[in-house]
Amino acid sequence: MSSIRHWRPKRRRRRETDAVSSWSPSHWALWSARPAVLGYVLSVDLLAVAVLAVSFGGLRTTADDWIRLGILALGSAIHIEAGREIERLRWAAAEGATYVNLKSMWIFAGVLILSPPLAIAIIAFSSLHSWFRLRRIAPHRSFFSAATLVLASGAAWMCVNTINPSSHPGYAGGLIGLVAVVAAAASYWFVNFTLVVGAVSLSNPDSSVGKVLGRPGDQIIVAAELGLGIATAVLLSTQPWLTLVALSTVLGLHRSLLVGQFQFAARTDQHTGLANGVFWHEIAAKELDRARNGNTPLGVLYLDLDHFKAINDTYGHLAGDQVLKAAADELKHEIRTDDLVGRLGGEEFAILLPNTTDDETEQAAERIRRRIAALTTVVLTAQGLTTVDSLTCSIGAAAYPTAGSTLDELLLAADTATYAAKNAGRNCVVTAPVCSR
Ligand code: GH3
Ligand code: MG
Ligand code: MG
Repeated sequence: MSSIRHWRPKRRRRRETDAVSSWSPSHWALWSARPAVLGYVLSVDLLAVAVLAVSFGGLRTTADDWIRLGILALGSAIHIEAGREIERLRWAAAEGATYVNLKSMWIFAGVLILSPPLAIAIIAFSSLHSWFRLRRIAPHRSFFSAATLVLASGAAWMCVNTINPSSHPGYAGGLIGLVAVVAAAASYWFVNFTLVVGAVSLSNPDSSVGKVLGRPGDQIIVAAELGLGIATAVLLSTQPWLTLVALSTVLGLHRSLLVGQFQFAARTDQHTGLANGVFWHEIAAKELDRARNGNTPLGVLYLDLDHFKAINDTYGHLAGDQVLKAAADELKHEIRTDDLVGRLGGEEFAILLPNTTDDETEQAAERIRRRIAALTTVVLTAQGLTTVDSLTCSIGAAAYPTAGSTLDELLLAADTATYAAKNAGRNCVVTAPVCSR
């Protein structure tokens, strides 16, 4: 206890010092990044600064331009303020994966309707505003993110100027105008996405493809915001003040983005990221129906970690949590994409194996048992970092239709087999017998 009391204030003091020192470029974590990451980030940043310098050649500042700039800045500011809570939840749910924010609607409208330096001013304004009010990420990361938007805007300008020269800044209309803005939106998206994916994959070479590319649905959100950016540009060139009226629609749509997060949260176990018991049962019931209708087999595994209480007692509850999460990750990686692993509670898991025969179910259980037995987890304990390599599990296997014909019968058979595995000495698989009907 006393060591914890001494340790806490020290840690708080260090964090405060870090926060202050991170402002100074000489303290940025960027300088200690691998040379490939450093080279990539600095190249993108310098290229963006070059685009900014060149853009001043196209500066145009009529009274209309200042009004449009003001409306876009105001719209972006209201949008960021009104959507703060929503964005915090979306950011947390992204869990480090590539994350799509909604700044681009205002920026892309500016790219189409304003001269380049003024559009870059919108990028700077909304990036700074997001930094102050949403997430205080490291300044060099925020700068890089703004640089990718400047380069994406540069690609969009090149498109418009190639397809419909002399129309920019402004919205030309007509078929050529339409082709120009759609091509500009596509190139804006492509350049921004590629640059961000490049940075994420270089900085986290071990990340899964899914984490690097982000959720597929996010790209639909990007398409929607670029579409709204085009609509905003049209409104700005005809009825500028209507843009702020249309903002209420944007805010309403923004709220609906949370539906996905709520659905995800409702079916996920927060600690392990696996399906929770309710969602697992729901999917298992549907898969069993499908197996019944299609006359196909299906396997169910019930898995209980062995002597888990002893892990908590030896290393502490927090270390137990880390071991539990590591075991869940192993389960996730051992199963096929059509299978589903869920945490039914505590240190108990269920695994659904659609289209799997009795023999294959037993083989899958044995593979999982071996994988858990081979797991080593480095955990933080009161004594420092410790390796836990003693984890094992007991698994009960039951297959449809041999061990039962309803989900309850299969789960009961698998659960009973797990007890038999415990009684047989643990760290083993027991298969439920063929049920007599
Ligand atoms: P057995 O081999 O018989 O399954 O032994 P066991 O100790 O695993 O079984 P028991 O059911 O007696 O205890 C389960 C333990 O798992 C007790 C509980 O504290 C621990 N546990 C359950 N959920 C969590 C959790 O989320 N985190 C941690 N750290 N421990 C948990
Ligand atoms: Mg248990
Ligand atoms: Mg147990």
